[in-house]
Amino acid sequence: MKELKISAKIQVCDYNELNPAEKNLIDAAKEAVMRAYAPYSRFQVGAAALLANNEIVTGNNQENVAYPSGLCAERTTLFYANSRFPDTAVDTLAVAAYTNGDFTEEPVSPCGSCRQVILEAQNRYNHPVRMMLYGKKGVYIIEKITDLLPLSFGSF
Ligand SMILES: [Zn+2]
Repeated sequence: MKELKISAKIQVCDYNELNPAEKNLIDAAKEAVMRAYAPYSRFQVGAAALLANNEIVTGNNQENVAYPSGLCAERTTLFYANSRFPDTAVDTLAVAAYTNGDFTEEPVSPCGSCRQVILEAQNRYNHPVRMMLYGKKGVYIIEKITDLLPLSFGSF
């Protein structure tokens, strides 16, 4: 028997260390937070996707009284991006979350379903989707979604 080890490389930096374009994308995700519809969880999430054509598309979580009918910020954003620019790769996806009157201290990372959808975007365009996860204490930068979804389900 042999053992497989899975590791993920995540860079952690301060918001102030980011370049202006990176700050702009985080800021867009933070703005999108404020338009979230989250009356049930009161946990607002915003996402901003920088596309290969330099467009920035934003989205946020959209909840429903029938809970499973709602959708996360990441998927809302990617589906909206794909519907507007179906031939354009997603370069970077920034995510921020807000609850109890402030942004979260720690970065919030995508749920499993969103990771699968982000992987689809990465595979669809054969272009790594870089993630930037904002927290007040620091920003996590992940160079490709496969770092967050090892042994992923894909087409065979
Ligand atoms: Zn999700």
